Amino acid sequence: MNGIVVVGAGQAGFQLGASLREGGYRGPVTLVGDEPGLPYGRPPLSKAYMLGKTDAAGLALRPEAYYAEHAIAVRAGTRAVAIDRRDRRVGLACGDTLPYDHLVLATGSRNRPLPVPGADLPGVHQLRTLADAEALRTVLAGVAAVAVVGAGFIGLEFAAVCAQKGIAVTVIEGLDRPLSRSVSPGMAALIEASHAAAGVRFLFGAAVAAIEGEGRAAGVVTRDGRTVPADLVLVGIGVLPNQDLAEAAGLPVANGIAVDAMLLTDDPAVSAIGDCAAHPSPHAEGARVRLESVQNAVDGARCVAARLTGRPAAYTAVPWFWSDQGPLKLQIAGLCMPHDRAVRRGAADAGGVSVFCYRGDRLVGVESLNRAGDHMIARRLLQTGLTPEPEAVADPAFDLKAFAL
Ligand code: FAD
Repeated sequence: MNGIVVVGAGQAGFQLGASLREGGYRGPVTLVGDEPGLPYGRPPLSKAYMLGKTDAAGLALRPEAYYAEHAIAVRAGTRAVAIDRRDRRVGLACGDTLPYDHLVLATGSRNRPLPVPGADLPGVHQLRTLADAEALRTVLAGVAAVAVVGAGFIGLEFAAVCAQKGIAVTVIEGLDRPLSRSVSPGMAALIEASHAAAGVRFLFGAAVAAIEGEGRAAGVVTRDGRTVPADLVLVGIGVLPNQDLAEAAGLPVANGIAVDAMLLTDDPAVSAIGDCAAHPSPHAEGARVRLESVQNAVDGARCVAARLTGRPAAYTAVPWFWSDQGPLKLQIAGLCMPHDRAVRRGAADAGGVSVFCYRGDRLVGVESLNRAGDHMIARRLLQTGLTPEPEAVADPAFDLKAFAL
């Protein structure tokens, strides 16, 4: 028995190994990861870790002893470079070859590069790995002004950290609002206002032309000729799926490694999970989606582990996500975008606010800001397919919890 090889020892890869053992799988399990060390969680990198509230050891998904106790081999610091699907073997950069009965691709995603002059200057950072976060946290201590390129989740979380540390921060965004791909305009406005009140400056509709500086980043220049002085630039303009290995092995890719409802690729011996995989979702009317969240990494891994231990089922888990930005706890259940009607429940300054998003007459997602109770109810509504009337949702007297039961 060759067992199961997992390429990528991140959130999804770790969970696959853990869920295989929980499901009773007894064959060899090997995680191959190109980062040094054991699997760790990324969310704190832009939050607690950046604020110095946790250290590298606190990020580990499990302590070292766990892997020995559960017979999960971790090949850290080595990259899978080729898949031989005919002979079912994975070639590693270190020269070793790992045979498999089943291969799971959990290669995650990488930061999208900023294609402008000066983007490679010292002082320009990205944030994806523990190594990135370590480098950032070290230099942040001596920084007076930060420019963040991109008003996505990572950019806003980092901007909130800067504001909390008393560092002047400007967020530069090409579109006209933050989180435009991810949240409703109403929610974006609330989030922007909160950051602005904390001292974060925004430049919207501002395309970056260059990072300027003599031997080191000193500012960001926009195409309309504005300059934002900064001694540190964080680029957070989204990610690209790590699909090259799959593509080179002849597996179909389209903004992610294409998988079916069981998270299986075209090859019955190869699955793909997490940030790198594009799966058909019942929460997107069957369209293929590629999600970048802990929930998707964990639930996708559980789905594949269940199939590999004799309990096959389609991947139908409700997508959910969170982002902590200073005093804001944003939680999203379902896939809100696109939607054609958004209904507000609650108020930002009184117990938090949720935005219920409808596509046609169906509830497709709920964005909650500092309103965790709604988020949990929303996940239940979306799992069961229950849709409350928009008028009822807007009524503070409406008992949403009772409706969801
Ligand atoms: P990853 O965790 O990225 O793991 C993939 C691993 O595979 C990486 O270590 C990669 O280097 C490795 N790899 C790639 N190719 C190879 C190869 N050929 N050989 C060997 N190894 C390879 N999500 C949330 O839901 N909430 C949050 O608040 C949140 N905050 C975040 C903050 C930050 C700073 C970041 C970067 C992400 C955050 N996310 C958050 C997203 C979440 O962390 C990811 O969606 C999740 O890690 C995806 O898991 P994954 O296993 O698919 O990919």
